Amino acid sequence: MSAPEPGTRGAIVGIDLGTTNSLVAVYDEQGPRVLEADGVSILPSVVRYEQSPSSPGGVRTVVGVDAKDRAVEFPSRTLSSVKRLMGRSLSDARSDLDFLGYEVVEGTHGQARARVVFEDGSSREVTPQEVSGVILRTLKGLAESALGHEVGRAVVTVPAYFDDAQRQATRDAGRLAGLDVVRIVNEPTAAALAYGIGARAGADSTETIAVYDLGGGTFDVSILRLTPGGGEGETSFFQVLSTAGDTRLGGDDLDHLLVSMFAREIRALMAGGEADSSRLETGSTRNELDAFPASTRRALKMFAESVKCRLSEDESASVRIEINEGLVYERTVTRDEFEDLAAPPIERTLAACARAVRDARDQLGGAGVDAVILVGGSTRIPLVRRRVGEFFGVEPYTALDPDRVVALGAAVQGGILSGAASGSLLLDVIPLSLGVETSGGAVAKLIVRNSSAPARATEMFSTGVDGQTSIKLNIVQGEREMVEDCRSLGEFELSGIPPMPAGIPQLEVEFLVDTNGVLRVSAHERRSGKRASLQVVPNHGLTGAEVDRIEAESFAHAREDMTRHRVVDLIANSSLDLKWIGERFERYGDRLEEAQRQDLRARIAELGEMVERARADWRSVDPNEFHASKEALDLASVRLQEISISESLRGDGA
Ligand code: ADP
Ligand code: MG
Repeated sequence: MSAPEPGTRGAIVGIDLGTTNSLVAVYDEQGPRVLEADGVSILPSVVRYEQSPSSPGGVRTVVGVDAKDRAVEFPSRTLSSVKRLMGRSLSDARSDLDFLGYEVVEGTHGQARARVVFEDGSSREVTPQEVSGVILRTLKGLAESALGHEVGRAVVTVPAYFDDAQRQATRDAGRLAGLDVVRIVNEPTAAALAYGIGARAGADSTETIAVYDLGGGTFDVSILRLTPGGGEGETSFFQVLSTAGDTRLGGDDLDHLLVSMFAREIRALMAGGEADSSRLETGSTRNELDAFPASTRRALKMFAESVKCRLSEDESASVRIEINEGLVYERTVTRDEFEDLAAPPIERTLAACARAVRDARDQLGGAGVDAVILVGGSTRIPLVRRRVGEFFGVEPYTALDPDRVVALGAAVQGGILSGAASGSLLLDVIPLSLGVETSGGAVAKLIVRNSSAPARATEMFSTGVDGQTSIKLNIVQGEREMVEDCRSLGEFELSGIPPMPAGIPQLEVEFLVDTNGVLRVSAHERRSGKRASLQVVPNHGLTGAEVDRIEAESFAHAREDMTRHRVVDLIANSSLDLKWIGERFERYGDRLEEAQRQDLRARIAELGEMVERARADWRSVDPNEFHASKEALDLASVRLQEISISESLRGDGA
């Protein structure tokens, strides 16, 4: 490697570490650009493990297009979508497991880990951090080849909804790749920077921007406000007013809808008939895919994705799959047919948009958004563009490639940090409230949800018992009032206070959240001068042991608020499904086979009951069961959707 050129040594690259695809970009004298080496710029976030006695640890990895394309051949040792496992426990990740295609097991602290199984039967467990680290290392290498010098520092983006454990896992992945992650930036915030909105000449009043990001695995929407700097050379700044989204919604879900449809039809074909679903036994729809080996499932997924992408350009797309000796499945999918399948998930994203607008309502003061930015490969779908434009009442920005926007924005942020670019200061939003436990297990919130970072807050407390010489502080995150319903981020003790009657000590607690969303809590007893502090998410530069300890702490604590979030999302999503499917059942239910009709009716009742129960008390439902019930209804309704599609094609009103 050549010596670093003067002036470029300090380059901080921007990395979009995506669920599906990852990219690295830089900001230099040419402006922001995505880096490319050996013809690769968009790197599929897919890693294949291979046995290699000569390599350290006995394995080597293949990353990117080759790993993605040959995933079908090596399903048990090809890992994709690991971002879904980052910083999550096995039970949190359970609903994603079916479609991952590889084995996921429980590691230390309940953490989800992938198990890679080799052909000789031996296996190896890898953490999501390691796998992401492999991807980041590949991007680092790509950037170094493209730039011709070493790259040591990066800005890495994460979805706005990532919690502390997930952000921490992302940092750890960077460390494992030999990268100093100087800043974690929310993806939608980066997208706004990529469009250079703040730098645009002539902006003289406040602007409100919605960023709609539909990728492969996650959906986010954020409402940002740009406050222009006013005078010459003044810094404009962005503030995130609100965010909403669904970490389990993306282009993959659209693929799965197509896969389910193909799978059902192929089974019917294999059962010896034309696509007549009456040949399926009742109940078998629940596990439409179970009849197929993993490799077939992955092949179906690849077919589905290519059909979906072709339908963004063309009015119809065909698949031809050779199943076995002479048995061929052929199918033409029209754009209308696909839009019918895709409509419910797309409407769900709009429900989240409505939540984000509602959360920002006070700051918007009745005004609408001035601009909408589309991010993520799935926003190429014409129906998405149309519906998002209709929802916000503005034509969305599409000038930049939606796959590249986030990486470009991360590079702009890197440029600002390294001094290569002057300009906007970014303020990110704090996604969940932060507080401290008080007597009786209640929570005093110091910093409320959706505050912008950096943020600082202080509050005074005292003791409740005479002669108390130490005070334990439990730092929590969440929206509920009781500690048991929030997530504990860590505890520390302030000791050495001289004995005083209850209520006399004056304990000042200060919360400080820096621009990375890292929380630092300090406590100061004023009468005795005693101090103690805790840093909840470590800055870069910590030792491995410290990172491990903090990681262990954060995994060890309850994550109830996230479970609750999930149930709430499931209620919203299931209600939409029930409405949509219910309407079609009402209309076309009598065309179904009796057994199917009964099956569908039972599933509608089951999910309806689940929604009712969850509405009454979110704790009364098991989110995994809830999710399974929703998926089961989606699968059981495929035939009904087909009938409704063919009816509408026949011009029957609709
Ligand atoms: P992530 O942020 O999750 O890594 P990306 O922004 O790279 O995801 O988007 C990947 C998703 O976009 C995939 O689901 C992919 O199938 C989808 N996608 C890419 N191109 C198109 C297209 N032309 N039409 C529809 N979907 C597309
Ligand atoms: Mg993305």
